[in-house]
Amino acid sequence: MRNDRNIKEKRHDPYDVGRKYSEGTYCPQCQANYWGGRWVWPEKTHSKTTICLCPACRRKRDDFPAGEVYLSGTYLSRHRTEILNLIRNIIDEGRERTPLKRLITLKRDRDNLCIRLTDNHLARHIGDALYKAYKGELQLKYSDEEKFVRLYWHRDV
Ligand SMILES: [Zn+2]
Repeated sequence: MRNDRNIKEKRHDPYDVGRKYSEGTYCPQCQANYWGGRWVWPEKTHSKTTICLCPACRRKRDDFPAGEVYLSGTYLSRHRTEILNLIRNIIDEGRERTPLKRLITLKRDRDNLCIRLTDNHLARHIGDALYKAYKGELQLKYSDEEKFVRLYWHRDV
């Protein structure tokens, strides 16, 4: 436990982006495994020696996102299905690539959409894709200390 203080000073992310787990650690929630220094989806059944929630499942449990994307504007209301498909594809790709890129919640009403995610890069990826596909206005608010990002995308007409 001698390293505890040192780790706390260096690491601001409470969800342990830089943390080392024992090889083969298994997340009882999503079945992700920790191998070779990272969380991966299991390719085969491993011996489940150490059990520990992965960072993404802890964020979901705590309802504590690392990235959020807010969409608004009349363009959204008129192209909702298309925009949702784009977002869902990006989320699916992220989740396939790594257990740590996952959706926490997606809330919508008539003119707004709010997406909360376990990974800040995934949020940026969605913002970039929206801007690339539909232009509009994209604003980014980044909190470095907490490694949290919030994006606002807006387009009328
Ligand atoms: Zn998990």
